[in-house]
Amino acid sequence: MPSRPGRLEGKNAVVTGAAGGIGLETTILFAREGATVLMADISEPALEKALAKAKEIVPDAARISTMRCDVSKESDVKAMVESQDQYNGIDIMFNNAGIMHADDADAIGTPEKIWDLTHNINVKGVWFGSKHAVLSMRRHNKTKGSIINVASVVALVGSATPQLAYTASKGAVMAMTRELAIVHAREGFRFNALCPAPLNTPLLQDWLGDDAEKRHRREIHFPTGRFGEAIEQAQAVLFLASDESSFVNGTDFVVDGGMTKAYVTPD
Ligand code: NAD
Repeated sequence: MPSRPGRLEGKNAVVTGAAGGIGLETTILFAREGATVLMADISEPALEKALAKAKEIVPDAARISTMRCDVSKESDVKAMVESQDQYNGIDIMFNNAGIMHADDADAIGTPEKIWDLTHNINVKGVWFGSKHAVLSMRRHNKTKGSIINVASVVALVGSATPQLAYTASKGAVMAMTRELAIVHAREGFRFNALCPAPLNTPLLQDWLGDDAEKRHRREIHFPTGRFGEAIEQAQAVLFLASDESSFVNGTDFVVDGGMTKAYVTPD
């Protein structure tokens, strides 16, 4: 551990989708910087594995715990956030859980049940997480708090490889986050939307599999020529969670290696 105080010393954080790529990397960084972290995920076995990994990397963490939570169910989210009341409530909420379904397609091909499933998790999950974070912060008379909601670059640029339900859900996350940021600004609660580019995490890589053509179709659009890494998102989340970003509010925080700013990329 560094001898300097951690950037999140004394803060209590909740990370949803904590067993996945961005969630686990963020948990590890948060814990390293002195926060206590509640890792929440729908998958208990995945959570167990992720917890073991986090504890291996940060053995002297103040507290890392886990709780199963389906973010599309308000009762789960409420119970999860309220479990932190015994520790003076939460200071940081990372609404990261999200899905990108294999059957998600264009306007004609997307089944309605996939639309609903995607929106229940990606949009309602963020709403419930934001709502219960605010309620917790108010219950514990917090004068500051940081809520980071995960959107995506697909909410900023169109794509000829459509996943309509996913794209629409991430647009909703961005719009919702912006409004929450304004509504709660005078309470000291900041809301920012993280917009990652396609990453090297199971969410996308499992779907691409060995299909080199499908992979190339995406890589070509990166000025850097590569997908992003989960840790590169986690570093941005750490900044947004810490007091270093105290005047950063309502942003679409884009971490994409320049992808959304590129017209033509280098050969
Ligand atoms: P991931 O699939 O590695 O992790 C997502 C985690 O969310 C998994 O552990 C999964 O079990 C969990 N989860 C799924 N449904 C849940 C539910 N109902 N309740 C609680 N947990 C649930 O994905 P990732 O790449 O780490 O993605 C994290 C976030 O980043 C997602 O919101 C995703 O849409 C977004 N994102 C990812 C990419 C990418 O290319 N990977 C790009 C842009 C945005």
